[in-house]
Amino acid sequence: MENPRLSIQGISKHFGGLKAVDNVSFDVKSGQIFGIAGPNGSGKSTLFNVITRVPFGATHGTVLLDGQEMQKASPHAISLSGIARTFQRENVFDSLSCIDNVLVAVESHSPKLGFSQQVARAERALEIVGFPPTMHNVKAGSVPVFYRKQLMIASALALKPKVLLMDEPASSLTGPEIDAMKEIILEVSASGVTIVLIEHVLALLMEVSDQLLIIDQGQVIANGLPGEVTQDPQVIEAYLGGAHA
Ligand code: ADP
Ligand code: MG
Repeated sequence: MENPRLSIQGISKHFGGLKAVDNVSFDVKSGQIFGIAGPNGSGKSTLFNVITRVPFGATHGTVLLDGQEMQKASPHAISLSGIARTFQRENVFDSLSCIDNVLVAVESHSPKLGFSQQVARAERALEIVGFPPTMHNVKAGSVPVFYRKQLMIASALALKPKVLLMDEPASSLTGPEIDAMKEIILEVSASGVTIVLIEHVLALLMEVSDQLLIIDQGQVIANGLPGEVTQDPQVIEAYLGGAHA
């Protein structure tokens, strides 16, 4: 069998007595869009925090990227090795121009690259997410939320990731913007990046995911094809029943 690109093995994160992530294991194949869903507070964002070690690593467990152990590496080394992420809230540098935001990421990944090549890489990342060239030099603090999300994704792509972890990219977007975000996710995938996608907008998750993992109270309750997982009685009870929707 083909080795997984990303392998999460028995990952737990405890905050005192709270098992926010509790013995979670799953494999992501190269090229997949791997969806993750679960009620609020089920440990999804904490899982991404632990995988990237931003801001903390796991209490127990192993993360392998192409077979290589990542939990002992620094967050910077993890990003250089090929795991990048976006956050639930858009964290861009408001006082920098849009393209300078992406250049910060290029510089962190490839400080020795010539400036014109750095700019070319930033422009390519912005192009993949469909960011309008006319807005490259506008201050990031003044652009609407959808563009800020594009910038955050472009900055992650500028790190040349093998795997991009996306935490609820569709949150606080309008219907048409969610459709545009779907195209961005597919475009990033087509560019050769493996994607792990946490998303609350289930329609989007179902449309783009090759595989779907459901987490409840820090534990995996289902992992399989999206159409199958959403028929699982335990998933319907925990997540789709309406109580948490
Ligand atoms: P999700 O992203 O699925 O909504 P989170 O991963 O943000 O859930 O949170 C999972 C649980 O862990 C929640 O109960 C949350 O309050 C708790 N938690 C998350 N981060 C911390 C932290 N830094 N310290 C203490 N508790 C935390
Ligand atoms: Mg979250």
